[in-house]
Amino acid sequence: MNIHEYQAKALLKGYGAPVAEGVAILKVEEAEAAAKSLPGPLYVVKSQIHAGGRGKGKFKELSPEAKGGVRLAKSIDEVVAHAKEMLGHTLVTAQTGDAGKQVNRLYIEDGADIARELYCSLLVDRSVGRVAFVVSTEGGMDIEAVAHDTPEKIQTIAIDPEAGVTAADVTAISKALQLDGAAAEDAKSLFPALYKAFNEKDMALLEVNPLIVMKDGHLRVLDAKMSFDGNALFRHDDVKTLRDETEEDAKEIEASKWDLAYVALDGNIGCMVNGAGLAMATMDIIKLYGKEPANFCDVGGGAGKEKVAAAFKIITADPKVEGILVNIFGGIMKCDVIAEGVIAAVKEVGLKVPLVVRLEGTNVELGKKILNESGLAITAADDLDDAAKKIVAAING
Ligand code: GDP
Ligand code: MG
Repeated sequence: MNIHEYQAKALLKGYGAPVAEGVAILKVEEAEAAAKSLPGPLYVVKSQIHAGGRGKGKFKELSPEAKGGVRLAKSIDEVVAHAKEMLGHTLVTAQTGDAGKQVNRLYIEDGADIARELYCSLLVDRSVGRVAFVVSTEGGMDIEAVAHDTPEKIQTIAIDPEAGVTAADVTAISKALQLDGAAAEDAKSLFPALYKAFNEKDMALLEVNPLIVMKDGHLRVLDAKMSFDGNALFRHDDVKTLRDETEEDAKEIEASKWDLAYVALDGNIGCMVNGAGLAMATMDIIKLYGKEPANFCDVGGGAGKEKVAAAFKIITADPKVEGILVNIFGGIMKCDVIAEGVIAAVKEVGLKVPLVVRLEGTNVELGKKILNESGLAITAADDLDDAAKKIVAAING
């Protein structure tokens, strides 16, 4: 689960990290009061969407010369003018896709005088089984290019979970970022604070890009992207309240209500599978036969009829889906239950695209019988290969 920058900064402030003062607003009329509450004379008006690259982004409704989704302002009037141009408009960035995202919220922030822009993120480094700091002196809006062209400028410092962030770790990170003076002093509390926040809140990613050294020599968190481990959300009610469902894929929200592992993808074959391994194999074989999966949907081992029906509805709700492949191995899950779930869902939402079903395992004969006697246009398949060929052929007409 992702949250907005302004929420991430508020959370980090609670851990003592240096962030600017700021006010989140939903309406243009709130811009003036928001700016007036800040010290000035420099302000920043920042689009709050769940995507990065806002600074270099472009608004669809504005001319290509117009400024992007993060703008500096030198007066309150300028803040208001920016707010007018940005709110309600669609921002397209390298991360939003061509459709862009509507900007429904702005964060008006006290502007900083920047001396250097650095990169600092925390993530779970699976290769060493530890939380690691990934840092670079080349922060700012081009970190992807740095990673691609000059990967040696990015350093990773993994943290021993038993010791936490030690003084030696802080020194190593500070050295990698070439910090000295006040910044090196600030680092002693900032890096342990980021690590503490990451662990306590079960984050999957915390990215501060840029972390800045200001002209006065101090550090400040200028941008913050935070993702939380969905499997740990049950123990963070405070984090759950930060969810902004308007930023999420409606199908993924519905899926999470049913505890389905659903991820929307770009292809056009909808997949309903049980077990992540079988889901991966199904996606692979679809690709092998020249098509792309429209989603990853794992109904899990013990799904009942209602859950199967919900999954089927979510898959068919995607307008990109031109055909559906149901590939189930009935172990704990019984094939007849799957068959009944599929039929119930088809009866409710109709079947506008070809449907191929491959069942194997417990009660497979009963499952096939239920499907055959349903009177619905369902193509039965015998194995994974057969199923993939049949759905691809059905789509190709
Ligand atoms: P992103 O483009 O979505 O990553 O948004 P950021 O919050 O990282 O802002 C993009 C860029 O705007 C930063 O890299 C800075 O160069 C600039 N910027 C943001 N806030 C300030 C500020 O307070 N002062 C100055 N001078 N520049 C800022
Ligand atoms: Mg940024």
